Amino acid sequence: MLKGLPTYIDPKRLALFGVSVKGRAALAQMSRLRDSLCDVQGEAQIDWLFALDDKQRPTISGRVQAQLPLRCQRCLQPMLTEIDTKVALVVLTSEPSQNSQNSQNSQNSQNEELPVGYEAITLTSTLVSLITIIEDELILALPIVAKHTACPSSNEYQYVSSIVEDKTLKNNPFQVLSQLKIG
Ligand SMILES: [Zn+2]
Repeated sequence: MLKGLPTYIDPKRLALFGVSVKGRAALAQMSRLRDSLCDVQGEAQIDWLFALDDKQRPTISGRVQAQLPLRCQRCLQPMLTEIDTKVALVVLTSEPSQNSQNSQNSQNSQNEELPVGYEAITLTSTLVSLITIIEDELILALPIVAKHTACPSSNEYQYVSSIVEDKTLKNNPFQVLSQLKIG
């Protein structure tokens, strides 16, 4: 389901080595995002670089791209929505307060300012599910209301085609053949 991507990552370790992570993740695996989709076919693609910021905190920067099958809120037809969103995260850790010294330190670091344009994510364990982070980024990038710029006029089309169908069925069915020959 994750092509070329690890299931769990250790952001601190990846950042320490300046690792870049590229690959695809199936939308079907994103249980929270799935509620907003009318089809779970498809993948999200990521191209992320892990690095340390000047305060030695892990950062993730790069992009998430996906074509999400959303439902148009005007005509209720499915529509593919192109998502191409920038990711800029500072990874903060909320450690359980086993060691008061450590928790004090992590508390301090969380109060420090973030680099410009970065958002903080707080992780509760060393290893985190990569797909959860990707899913969070996609959910944030969802349009507030999905709408076609111009909805396909499906009602009009159905009306016209049903009239044509009635005519051919009620009249002599061979008329269709003769029309084809002439055409
Ligand atoms: Zn529409």
